[in-house]
Formats: sequence, structure tokens, C-alpha cells
Amino acid sequence: VAIEEHGTAALVLPDGEEVLVRVRQSDHARTTRIRLGPRKRPEIILAAEAHPTDASRLLEHRSSWIANKLAAVRALGESDELGLEATDRLPLDGQLLPVDVRWAKRPTARRTPDGRVCACGPDEEAIVAALERWYRREARILLGHMLEHEAQRLRIGYRRLTVRDPKRRWGSCSSAGDISLSWRLVLTPASVRRYVVVHELLHVRVPSHSRAFWRSVEIAYPGWRESVSWLSRHGSEVRRFRCDAAARAGEPRRLADDSASEGAERLDLPTWDDR
Ligand SMILES: [Zn+2]
Repeated sequence: VAIEEHGTAALVLPDGEEVLVRVRQSDHARTTRIRLGPRKRPEIILAAEAHPTDASRLLEHRSSWIANKLAAVRALGESDELGLEATDRLPLDGQLLPVDVRWAKRPTARRTPDGRVCACGPDEEAIVAALERWYRREARILLGHMLEHEAQRLRIGYRRLTVRDPKRRWGSCSSAGDISLSWRLVLTPASVRRYVVVHELLHVRVPSHSRAFWRSVEIAYPGWRESVSWLSRHGSEVRRFRCDAAARAGEPRRLADDSASEGAERLDLPTWDDR
């Protein structure tokens, strides 16, 4: 296996498939490891003191291992066991909420008292964006309550909660005690959500993933392993979820009072924030 320029290596798997592997050296890595994900190029991270030929040796000796792992990881990446992709409803905290889509100049989304979501907007894109903002608001409430509850139970103070949509993480905690959580956690079971909340809260005390940290996780949330495996099994499906299908669920119906303002005005719609 030749390591080419720009840190890429071509690996031929036992079934003949050629896979490009990224190779990079890390000053922080103590051991050389290989990282595989469902939708990204496999990556070899060379330990600080490793020689670049270590990467080719690793690829040569472990090609069938890599092939097996890659197949497993890809199968997981395409898993749709939760059915999030198929549904035109909005999953939230274990429920599937039906959506009513209406045409309106101003994009908004809100929950109605009968357990539906009413989404409005000038086009599908705006409705999708409004629904995502709605998700963030719901997440802020759900996660905020949970964080508050766990902070009191564990007697750990934090400064502030921010709800985001990070690509790789479910949450993070700064040294100042600012906790950030993914809004997508509202798509996961409450037990999984609670694990992430507890995990980040414990980082206020122990910032690293040291042994002491995992001991504190074990004490604070004994069921954490099931949550970790749920996330590794379903995490990519949760991250793939988009509100597009829900935004298309209903024929956009034009409201009577909006039809009068149709026309040129529609072309330069400001992007309202429905907060
Ligand atoms: Zn952590």
C-alpha cells in the first residue's frame, strides 16, 4: 500500500473494492489508530512518534479487519430502524406529531393544543427552516428542564445552556460551565437524552474523559452504557433526520388574507425569525 501525497492511501479490500484512506499524523495521539464512519473516508491517525510507513503496514496487515468493520459501519450508517426517514410526521420525545402545512408569507411553526404542528411559510424551504427552529425551541424547553433537574440532583452548577446542531457531538461543556446540546436529542429516547445531559454536566467538574470521569458517570447514571450503544446504533439516523417530508406532508393551502398580497412582494421575502 503506497501512501501518496496529501496523506491519502489506496487500500484494496479482499473483495476488490478500492477504498481511499486519509492518513494524518497527530501531535496529540499516543497510539496509532484507524477511524471509520458511515459517511466519511476512513482515516488513520498516526501517533506523534510513528513513522509514515506505519500507516502502510497497518493497512496491509489489517485489510480484512478494516473491510469487516467498514461493512458493519456502513450498514449502521444506512440503518433506518427508527423510521425517521420514512415518516412525514415530526418525532418529538417519543411521539409522532402530524403536521398541517399552510401557505403564508411569514414562516412560522407552532404546536397546537390538539397535539399537531401547524407550519406556515412561503415555500418548502422556509417551512423546513421554521420547523427546525420550532425543534430548537422545543429542545430548549425539554433539555432545559432535564438539565435543571439533573443539576439539582447531582448538585452541579452550570452557567448557560445553548441548543445547537453540531455535526459530530451530542453535547459539549466549556470550562466556564456553558453547556451546549444538540436539538436532535429530542428525537432520542428520554433515557438517552438524560445520559447526554448528565455526561455534559459532569464535565463541569472533570473536563477530560479520564477514568475518574467515567467513574463519576457510572455513579451518576448507571445505565449509561445502553445510552452509548443506542447512540452508536441510531446516531447517524438521528443526525440525518430533516423536516422536508413533514414540510411536504400537507398541500400548502393559501390563506384567504394572504392571497391579496401575492405577487412581486413574494420575491423579496425577508427571512423572519419566528422566535
Ligand atoms: Zn464528554
